[in-house]
Amino acid sequence: MPYVFDPIETPSVAVTGTDRRFPVRRIFCVGRNYAEHAREMGGDPDRAPPFFFTKPADAIVESGAKITFPKITKDFHHEVELVIAIGKEGENIPVQDAREHIFGFAVGIDLTRRDLQKIAKEKGRPWDSGKAFDQSAPCGAITPVAEIEDIETAKIWLTVNEDTRQSATIADLIWSIEEVIAVLSEAFILMPGDLIYTGTPAGVSSLSIGDHIIGHVDGLSPIDIRLTS
Ligand code: MN
Repeated sequence: MPYVFDPIETPSVAVTGTDRRFPVRRIFCVGRNYAEHAREMGGDPDRAPPFFFTKPADAIVESGAKITFPKITKDFHHEVELVIAIGKEGENIPVQDAREHIFGFAVGIDLTRRDLQKIAKEKGRPWDSGKAFDQSAPCGAITPVAEIEDIETAKIWLTVNEDTRQSATIADLIWSIEEVIAVLSEAFILMPGDLIYTGTPAGVSSLSIGDHIIGHVDGLSPIDIRLTS
């Protein structure tokens, strides 16, 4: 079928150990999922059900890329996150079956125009301007689940110019990996290609042009980006 112009190439992420790539369908993100971060954002880190927002699939940026400092913000933040890559369709997935739907894990950074997100929160408006802008979803290569020993006890951390800004362990998640999949699949039919950014630990902070940012999770391929003007 001819199009009136060329459609975009399917956004995709590298997979470790193969030259075959993971095609990205949707990007879901969990709002608050570490107690210390919920507190630093002025919230209450209870077990209120997790909430979700999305980014466009073509907001994906691969490790090694340069990111242009985004428009219309004076408070551009990093949020390092464990990313779940979904490999199998499912809805109303029970917690005990959630593992079957995971293709692999990656390290992502939920880049945020915090000033715009703050205005949206105050006015009860959507978060898109703060969260879903171009190049807002850096994601490292996906490691297939079979190659990961123990994601639950892995450390997660982020450095800016070699200074550690965020540091926690995956065990600190308020809602576990399996619970996030179960709750999200009550609202959406999860599909292969979906990515879920699982929330960020405390320590989010402002970025500047020239910054070199690296996000890590033990056992996964890091995400390494630089900010340019
Ligand atoms: Mn986040």
